[in-house]
Amino acid sequence: MEKTLVIATFNRHKTGEILAILPSLRLRLRPLSDFPGAVPAVEDGASLEENALKKAVEAARFTGAWALADDTGLEVDALGGAPGVRSARYAGETASPAQNSALLLASMAEVPVQERTARFACVVALASPDGKTFTARGTLEGAIAGAARGANGFGYDPLFLVGGGPRTLAELSEKEKNGISHRARALAGILPHLALI
Ligand code: IMP
Repeated sequence: MEKTLVIATFNRHKTGEILAILPSLRLRLRPLSDFPGAVPAVEDGASLEENALKKAVEAARFTGAWALADDTGLEVDALGGAPGVRSARYAGETASPAQNSALLLASMAEVPVQERTARFACVVALASPDGKTFTARGTLEGAIAGAARGANGFGYDPLFLVGGGPRTLAELSEKEKNGISHRARALAGILPHLALI
């Protein structure tokens, strides 16, 4: 019988990217929102690994199925690696992506072009209902733009110059982003484990 893999996120952009990136597997992929009563995990871990594991383990326990989660952070060198694991809450506990991006731009206002290097880091965690866990990490190097550009993607994508080049992640097509992204690289690392479910 086909096994279920729960995609343990309530972020529809992430779900869309994960579904687009994963190759066809003999698994029935279902978002956590399909399960009545499921709630988002509290992301209070000290690292991306801790938060990704927490999301995957809680979802696997709740649903009784294997679960896959990701936790992502934007590490800006001029800010000592911030916002990092706090990327979703950079401008406050209930901050919107627009508020987080506005604070990032303001924090970087005085930073010259050559010192604006940054990377996205993504940790994907996989958990079984009986407590087995695996993680994999993927990164994408780039730089913080002087202003937001592009309408694709989500979150900090309009501020992230890919490889320090001229285009932001939000100026890439969905296919282009999914071909190079931190999330795609982390998922590639977890694929061997998914194949064994
Ligand atoms: P989390 O992984 O859901 O905790 O997300 C952390 C923060 O990074 C949130 O503000 C997201 O909007 C943002 N984020 C997550 N993944 C991406 C991405 O692929 N591109 C841009 N921003 C992202």
